[in-house]
Amino acid sequence: MQLHARDHEPAGTPAPAPAPRADARDPELAISTRGLVKSYPGPGGTTTHAVRGLDLDVHRGETFAFLGPNGAGKSTTIALLCALARPTSGRALVAGADVLTEPERVRRRVGLLFQHSALDPDLTAEQNLRVHARLYGLGRADVRRRTAEVLELADLADRRRSPVRTLSGGMRRRLEIARQLLHSPGVLFLDEPTTGLDPHARARIWEHLRALRDRDGSTLFVTTHYLEEAEHCDRLAIIDRGRLVAGGTPGEVKAAIGDDRVVLRTSDDGAARRIAGLLVPPERTVHVDADGVWLRVPDGSTWIPRLCAALEVHGIAVHAASATPPTLDDVFFHHTGRSITGPAETGGGR
Ligand code: ADP
Ligand code: MG
Repeated sequence: MQLHARDHEPAGTPAPAPAPRADARDPELAISTRGLVKSYPGPGGTTTHAVRGLDLDVHRGETFAFLGPNGAGKSTTIALLCALARPTSGRALVAGADVLTEPERVRRRVGLLFQHSALDPDLTAEQNLRVHARLYGLGRADVRRRTAEVLELADLADRRRSPVRTLSGGMRRRLEIARQLLHSPGVLFLDEPTTGLDPHARARIWEHLRALRDRDGSTLFVTTHYLEEAEHCDRLAIIDRGRLVAGGTPGEVKAAIGDDRVVLRTSDDGAARRIAGLLVPPERTVHVDADGVWLRVPDGSTWIPRLCAALEVHGIAVHAASATPPTLDDVFFHHTGRSITGPAETGGGR
């Protein structure tokens, strides 16, 4: 994957428009963007830079997670990629069509599950689907066939005659996903499909999405702020304040920061911190927090016996020790100095 957190600052001299890929219509790429920027005029002549230059390639048939805290620019990126908002600068090809010059074609070829979408609660599951299918201009026979197919896919065939208001939150979400599949989109965008659902319903949605990928080879572009959901996607990109900070497979982005987290619980964390600090290379910082004494080092498990031996010499007891490989939150912290699960960004400008 080519993915760079470039600094296309919208203010000042604009960066030269990056060359589109030579194989810009590469059929293997479901999404390809270069230098994609979206700025909004804010209050008092200010500007909100929601997306600051995205270079992103998503391959056909992959489940791609777009991970970032609130206000990072996830929904704005989706609006650009679905040709619902016009980029301030940059280019994007989606499902083989150009968002700038062929927005209608892009809209026909994508499905989009909005962050806050809605079904008509008084219509049945099936009726909700039919209304949508007609909007997309499907013929009568196709409406019937596709409605039955997507209800089956969503595991809702037995509820097709139920008014939507009688369905659970998770079932409604699955029905909304089914609705977006009616016109067989080349790429399905899902903006926080699981936010607000309980863990069981979230797991069902992911089961359903994985089945779509495996059975139909669908390309799924899913935004989330749940780290564990990005873990089992094929590849991911992490966005923060409109910029990409990391991208690759979950394994790659974690391996890129390398270090394990070593945590010790001791009888005297303050003293243990000083002693550990003398032992580890000078560029490594030893921290103390509610978890105990902790530091990041490559090959964390090999440090545990060395640290324990040094602490024992000073009469400090070690009650527990662990070395864990980096998590996606560690990746986010590494690149931004903040935790993705920390307090939500206020994201000014709206
Ligand atoms: P996310 O989906 O990651 O939470 P958004 O893409 O919704 O983030 O928002 C990114 C930033 O752009 C935020 O600071 C938000 O306030 C701002 N923003 C989004 N849409 C608009 C808009 N229509 N007008 C002005 N600012 C906007
Ligand atoms: Mg959003």
